[in-house]
Amino acid sequence: MPGYKLAIDGPAGSGKSTISALIAKRMGWTHIDTGAMYRAVTLQAIELGIDLNEESAYRFLESSKIHYDFDKIYINDRDVTEAIRSESVTNHVSLVSSFPYVRKKLVDLQKHAAEYGNIVMDGRDIGTVVLPHANLKVFLTANVEERAKRRYKENLKKGKVTQIEKVIEDISTRDQKDSTRKESPLKMADDAIILDTTHLTIDQVVNKIIELTGQKEKEHGV
Ligand code: C5P
Repeated sequence: MPGYKLAIDGPAGSGKSTISALIAKRMGWTHIDTGAMYRAVTLQAIELGIDLNEESAYRFLESSKIHYDFDKIYINDRDVTEAIRSESVTNHVSLVSSFPYVRKKLVDLQKHAAEYGNIVMDGRDIGTVVLPHANLKVFLTANVEERAKRRYKENLKKGKVTQIEKVIEDISTRDQKDSTRKESPLKMADDAIILDTTHLTIDQVVNKIIELTGQKEKEHGV
């Protein structure tokens, strides 16, 4: 696997995707947001009207093409970057991602996508399952109130008003489901570095991780 592989895992709202995208931009690396891929499968399953509880119904994946490119996600060449952030997708994605068949399909795609080049990949099982030999594994955390606050502000920017208590509840439910599922649960890899971002700015986290990669001299535009 030539190239630098950076694995970033963590719970919902820990800032993984934002931080990974910024690191990729600064370093000139490729970013792959695996959460967006699970969301894309969920969106397609909802649109197809399959029984979401039935693992065999996900066979539609045999003939669908999901790909992630430059922070945009496509299903059969349709750009679904916005659509995968809907409430309905968010509420069902933990169920969809709990099926071994779905995970195998996406993990294969992710491993393949990370084969060449410098990659920063974020998700829940990157350090443990997708890239167990990554050059650096970072596990991002932040307390649930802070994570909810960030999600709340993100929603506001998009013109969506939510109740903070409801965001805390949603995030906690998703954490609980993602951490307790049988198949590749959210778990810190033994050799990951834990970074609590509760009191750090986005820039501080980005700088810290770039420093940890030891690749600072290769940074672009800094
Ligand atoms: O990262 P994001 O919160 O968008 O991920 C959405 C969901 O996708 C997670 O709550 C989790 O259920 C699932 N997921 C996963 N494994 C990954 C990435 C995401 O199970 N590597």
